[in-house]
Amino acid sequence: MSKFPAFTIDDHWIISHRGPKNIVDPFKPYDFFIEKERTGHDVIEEITAIFLTNRECPFRCLMCDLWKNTTDTSVPEGAIPRQIEYALSRLPQTKHLKLYNSGSFFDPKAISTTDYPGIAGLIENFETVLVESHPAFINHNTLLFNELTKPELQVAIGLETIHPEVLPRINKKMTLAHFDKAVDFLLSNKIETRAFILLRPPFLSEEEGIVWAERSIDYAFRAGVKTCTVIPVRSGNGALETLEENGFFEPPDIRSLETVMEYGIKLNKGTVLADLWDIEHFSRCDKCLKNRKERLHQMNLYQKIFPKIDCSCQDD
Ligand code: SF4
Ligand SMILES: [Zn+2]
Repeated sequence: MSKFPAFTIDDHWIISHRGPKNIVDPFKPYDFFIEKERTGHDVIEEITAIFLTNRECPFRCLMCDLWKNTTDTSVPEGAIPRQIEYALSRLPQTKHLKLYNSGSFFDPKAISTTDYPGIAGLIENFETVLVESHPAFINHNTLLFNELTKPELQVAIGLETIHPEVLPRINKKMTLAHFDKAVDFLLSNKIETRAFILLRPPFLSEEEGIVWAERSIDYAFRAGVKTCTVIPVRSGNGALETLEENGFFEPPDIRSLETVMEYGIKLNKGTVLADLWDIEHFSRCDKCLKNRKERLHQMNLYQKIFPKIDCSCQDD
């Protein structure tokens, strides 16, 4: 079988494989909580994470499942500040904030620039604020928001993978040149960047998944990114299940995530984080899952390589 399917993977194909969306309220975030993250050299602090209910992202990336908690049309003006207020009034104050909106924060159809002053007022007590954006929306709006907000702005961009044949096939409509340009623009305006990197996107073997995640980390750090977050690719959006059934996708193993983390931390070029959400999904061994999860968690926090987990599954 060829590595790539004969059919074209485009917006239509991806959307046609989706299930229903969840019911969401445009005036309430769909999730919010406090988590711990490394924020400096041996500094571990609490971060408020708010998952804003927002209009569906106009891009349709092959691996994305964020559309599940989105609205079909733009949320009313004022809805985003109300959502932030809703979450902040229910959580203790922390120094750092993540505002994720299932798309691009600087997409004016997602978050109107007229809401920027309201948002800025609500978050003025934070030291940093991290938002996410596709490179296509990193522009004058980013600078406008940066000027209005007191906390230091950080922007996360999905680099996903630098594999030359896989990146175009994940339908992100982004080239490495777009990524570089966005990072340069942010850095020249003294805005810190993060990159999301996929571990084993479709069409790659386990081994290739590791190698290309490592090369993508190298690329991101060379571009000037400060933090790389490695995301193991999980099915659940319809499209990936179909690719899985046809032999074009398999979720990575938790042990591969450990390998990539060891590589990235050893580089000592910046912070490397493993996305541990739903990590159980990536383990095929009940005996070592808990220890591997804890090892990854400690590696996230301390950026050190902790002793390998000894388990009989290693011989599989
Ligand atoms: S750009 Fe981000 S939010 Fe939009 S479809 Fe791609 S992965 Fe999902
Ligand atoms: Zn095991």
